[in-house]
Amino acid sequence: MTIRNRIAFQFSFIVAGILICYSLIIYVRSDNYRQTEFFDRLEQRARTVVRFLTQVEELDRNLLRIIDRKTLITLYDQKVMVFDSGNQLLYSSIDVDSVTIPVSVLEQIRQEKIVRTWMGEQQLFGLYAPEGPQPLTVVATAYDRSGQAELRNLRRTIVWSLLGGIGLTVGLGVLFAGQSLRPISRINKQVSTINARSLQQRLDEGNRQDEVAQLAINFNQVLGRLQQAFEQQRTFISHASHELRTPLAALKSELQLSLRHPLPADQYQHILRNLTDDTDRIIDLTNSLLVLARTLETPKLQVQHIVLLDDVIFMARDELLNAHPHYRIDVRFSDLVASGEHPEVRGDELLLRRMLLNLFDNACKYSADQRALVYIAQDSNTCRVSVTDEGIGIAADQLPQIFDPFYRADNARSHDGYGLGLSICKRIVELHNGHIDVTSQPEKGSTFIVVLPTSPTATF
Ligand code: ADP
Repeated sequence: MTIRNRIAFQFSFIVAGILICYSLIIYVRSDNYRQTEFFDRLEQRARTVVRFLTQVEELDRNLLRIIDRKTLITLYDQKVMVFDSGNQLLYSSIDVDSVTIPVSVLEQIRQEKIVRTWMGEQQLFGLYAPEGPQPLTVVATAYDRSGQAELRNLRRTIVWSLLGGIGLTVGLGVLFAGQSLRPISRINKQVSTINARSLQQRLDEGNRQDEVAQLAINFNQVLGRLQQAFEQQRTFISHASHELRTPLAALKSELQLSLRHPLPADQYQHILRNLTDDTDRIIDLTNSLLVLARTLETPKLQVQHIVLLDDVIFMARDELLNAHPHYRIDVRFSDLVASGEHPEVRGDELLLRRMLLNLFDNACKYSADQRALVYIAQDSNTCRVSVTDEGIGIAADQLPQIFDPFYRADNARSHDGYGLGLSICKRIVELHNGHIDVTSQPEKGSTFIVVLPTSPTATF
C-alpha cells in the first residue's frame, strides 16, 4: 500500500469513527427522548381517566370512551384499561377487549405504583390509584407511530449522511495526501536520476522551510560530501599512479639500457644497485599507500592496548636511527614524566610508532642539522608529544594543506618524499581520539604537536 493511500485510509478511518460515534449518540438520545415523551403522554391519559372515574361519578362510561377516542386520536392503536383489585376490567377505551394484559404486569403495577414498560412494539404505562372508592389499576398502551416514523427518518438521514461523509473523507484524504506527498514524489524522481557520474546534481530545496525541504537540504549535503569523497578518491588514485609510474619508468629505462649492449661487470653492479634503490622506493610508496588506505577505511581501532608512550617514542627513534645513523633525536620529559610517571594511552602501538617515526623523520629530513627535539608532557587527561626542528619550515599559506594526501610544500620538493606521511599521521591520531597541530616559520623551523587522551579516560 502506498503512503498516500495509507494516510488517506487512516485519516478516513478516524473521521468515520468520530462520525459514527456522534451519529450513535444523536440516535440514542433522540430515541430516549421520544420514549420518555410518549410515556409522559400515556401517563397524562391514564391520570385523566382515573380522575374521571373517581371524581366525576355521574360520568357515563360510554361518554368517557368517546372522549378517550377523541383525545387519543393522535396516539396509534391506543388503549386505556382500568382494572379492579380482582383484575376485572372496569373500563376499556376500546369496544372489543382484544388486548389482554398479563396478570403479572397488573401485579407489578400494584406493587410499584407506576410502571413504564414495553409490550411488543407498544409502550405501556401502568398506574395504581388506591385513593378512590375502590383501588384502580390503570393501564395505558399505544404505539408511537409518528415517533417511530421520525426515528426511521432520522436513521435514514444518519446512514446516508454517514455514507456521504465517509466517501467525501476518503476522496479528500486521497487528494490531500497526494498533494502533501507530491514534493516527495518530485524528490524521488530527481534522486533516481543521480548516479556516481552525476554527483554534482542537487535536489530542488523548495521553500527551505518544511520537512520535505529539510530532507532535500540534508540530501544535498550528503551529495556534497559524497562528491567531495569521490573527488578525493579520484585525485588520490591519479596521484598514486603518478608516483608509482616515476620509479617504475626509471626502473624500465635502466633495464633497457643494460640490455642494449653487453657491459662490464662493475656497470652491471651499478645498475643493479640503482634498480634496488628504485624497488625500495616503490615498496616504500606502496607500503605508505596501504597504511593510509587501511587507516582511512577503519572507522574504529581494531587493536586497543595500554601503550606506554615514552617506550614507543624510543622505539621509533631507534628504528629511525638504524636507517639513518647520522640523524639526531633528543628526547626530553616534563617534570611529571621524569618523576617516573609513564604517559599511558590506549591504542595500537604499531600505528603510534609509525606516526611518531614519520614526524621524527620529517624533522630530521627537512633541517640542515638533521636534528629533532622531542618533548613529552602529560596532565590528568592528555599526553602531549611535540617534535621541533630548526629546518626549512612551511609557508603560512601552505600550512593548511600539508595534511592532505600527496601534498608537498614548494620548499620540500628537493627532498625525497611522496606527501603521504602527514596524512597517515593525522588519521592515526584521529583514530586515537587525539589531534595534531603544527606551528612553523619558513627558514626557522617547525613544531608538530600531538595530543592524545590518557589511558583511563580514553574512550574508544
Ligand atoms: P613527505 O615528507 O614525504 O613529502 P609528508 O606528508 O610527511 O610527506 O609531509 C607533507 C609536506 O609537509 C612535506 O612535503 C613538507 O612540505 C611539509 N613538511 C612536513 N614536515 C615538515 C617539517 N618538519 N619541516 C618542513 N616541512 C615539513
